[in-house]
Amino acid sequence: MTIAGVRSLACARALRLLPLGEPARRVASRLNPAVESLVPPAAAIIPVPNPWSTSMAIGTDSVVVFHYTLKDEDGTVLEHSDPGEPLAYLHGHGHIIPGLEKELSGRSSGDALTVTVQPAEGYGEYDDSLVQRVPRRALRGISDIHPGLRLQAQTEQGPRAVTVAQVVGDMVTLDGNHPLAGKQLQFEVRIENVRPATEAELEHGHVHGPGGHHAH
Ligand code: ZN
Repeated sequence: MTIAGVRSLACARALRLLPLGEPARRVASRLNPAVESLVPPAAAIIPVPNPWSTSMAIGTDSVVVFHYTLKDEDGTVLEHSDPGEPLAYLHGHGHIIPGLEKELSGRSSGDALTVTVQPAEGYGEYDDSLVQRVPRRALRGISDIHPGLRLQAQTEQGPRAVTVAQVVGDMVTLDGNHPLAGKQLQFEVRIENVRPATEAELEHGHVHGPGGHHAH
């Protein structure tokens, strides 16, 4: 009797993990007739929560591993994660832009979603006051000054990344806006894995391992 109980549990477990459709029928047909009569037709098998799954919903202190493609308003791809190299981040700590972090809350492994992010929840509105023209001699020691060149400027608020926007004669226009400031962004995201952060990760404030922090 004990043995029979164990068997039927193992059977239920196997069936619960099967995908819908033909594979379920094939397995059912291999079972003895007595058991088969207890197995509903494949069409009647509905997905149930899998108690052995490690799937969890994204919340504060989750480590989220995901793939993404980022497009601008016109659908031009701006950047993307590389195949086999998803990104990992610690959720709820402002490590990714607010508009994306907000939409990922409550999602789980396997979810795919498209998220449109307005500038205010992305890299900020474009700020004209961060654009400045300086004489070329202010950039002495830097050779080959051309549009798109990224530099670090010392400002009253500390170091700031700037981009050379224009070079006209002896004047160089520097833009202190983030390159994606003022842009509406579209992210296509596929969540690969969600797990709780380890104590060490929470202490350090970043993810360890693949896709995370590699510097130590
Ligand atoms: Zn660390």
